[in-house]
Amino acid sequence: MKRLSVKLKLTVLMTALLLVLVAAVLAFLVTVTSTVVTDNAHEQLETTVRANLPEISRAADGSLSLGEGFVFTRGGVYTLIYNASGALLAGQPPLSAPEGLAFENGALREASGSDDYYVIDFWLPFGWEDGVWVRGLLQVPESAEVVGDLIGIALLLLPLLVVLGGVGAYLLVRSTFRPIDRIVAAAGAIGEGRDLSRRIGLPPGRDEISRLATAFDSMFERLERSFEAEKQFTSDASHELRTPTAVILAQCAEAGHAETVEQYRQAIDVIDRQARKMSALISQLLQMTRLDQGTQRAAMEEADLSDLVEVICAEQPALPHRVTIQTDVQPEVRAVFDVTLMSRLLQNLLNNAARYGRDGGHIWVTLRHMDDAVLLSVRDDGIGIPADQMDKIWQRFYQVDAARSGSGGTGLGLTMVRQIAALHGGDVSVESTEGVGSCFTLRFPAVRAGEKNS
Ligand code: ADP
Repeated sequence: MKRLSVKLKLTVLMTALLLVLVAAVLAFLVTVTSTVVTDNAHEQLETTVRANLPEISRAADGSLSLGEGFVFTRGGVYTLIYNASGALLAGQPPLSAPEGLAFENGALREASGSDDYYVIDFWLPFGWEDGVWVRGLLQVPESAEVVGDLIGIALLLLPLLVVLGGVGAYLLVRSTFRPIDRIVAAAGAIGEGRDLSRRIGLPPGRDEISRLATAFDSMFERLERSFEAEKQFTSDASHELRTPTAVILAQCAEAGHAETVEQYRQAIDVIDRQARKMSALISQLLQMTRLDQGTQRAAMEEADLSDLVEVICAEQPALPHRVTIQTDVQPEVRAVFDVTLMSRLLQNLLNNAARYGRDGGHIWVTLRHMDDAVLLSVRDDGIGIPADQMDKIWQRFYQVDAARSGSGGTGLGLTMVRQIAALHGGDVSVESTEGVGSCFTLRFPAVRAGEKNS
């Protein structure tokens, strides 16, 4: 049974069930029919004989007198009258009736002559000592034959019913399972051909299989999107890593021909910068992938964001361009956030503000709690962002000016900032004027942040 397909198993089960049901119904019918036939015969026998009893009397001369209503045979019931010693006084027993049967007053029983008969006897007393036996005989009706016929018909019909039921069950199961065959075919095609654009495409319905197919389709959709994203990511990442690798290889080759210590040092410097860039790139890629794939889940907790912002701003090492930080932090702004991720977000914004700041410039960090939302902004008086680049800076690996980004820049910082903001149910916006400065503002709900991810 284990090796059979589900279709075949169901067909066999349904047919077997049908067989059992039909057999049970037939057995019930046979039992009921035979009971009804027997009961009817008993009743007919007894009432006919009882109806004759009042018609029997003894005439003044001692002879037996039968009233007008007396009938010897009615509806197959024979009424016979015997004297006390068992001699037949009136009536003609059928030839096949049992003979020499002892009398039993009021007892209905079955007895066999050459045929089977139901017998009932009544003692009809005349005075104290005399009386007559009145016997009723009714041939056991052909109920057995009826039942036999029924069984015969059933035996004839049963195989037909089983065949019809089996075919019906198979057709039903096959049509029910047809969508599953489509699901299997689509999953197989995707598995073998890696054709993720395939869909099962069942018309929408409310039954379980339609819902399963829809669930599969949306799973395929998600898989396709994530495979596409992964492909894009791999190609972007390898493209980005190729440049520093090529530079390092070129510098190594150059160092091989260096003649002075100075030339060596220059080559090593370039290699060092490029290696740092690669290292930063790899670690940011790793962090982003973890966030993307959900392997690093946001650990949301309610905490004092004011403290965190103050601590991070205070702990900044000597920033490039001798930029200084000023904070305007509303105290005790409590919110639900992931401390590590929020620190990384602020750090990225601070790095950018300093990296793209002017010499001796400033960074203003502001934190406010407004209308159930938290507003964290990092403003600088740096080089600003050209208006036509404002949308692009959020894209992976996008850099307005790679030379200005320096060895620490990867073009991934803002992508990650936006990713973290989204994980907190918020977003980041930017306002910037080229040559004047930029202001990045994070806004996220103070209390319900990150509910989806926690
Ligand atoms: P990067 O590693 O290059 O800084 P980001 O994703 O953090 O990458 O930023 C993308 C680009 O946006 C940067 O290359 C830079 O040109 C621009 N940018 C980001 N922050 C600022 C800022 N505070 N001032 C000016 N330009 C900025």
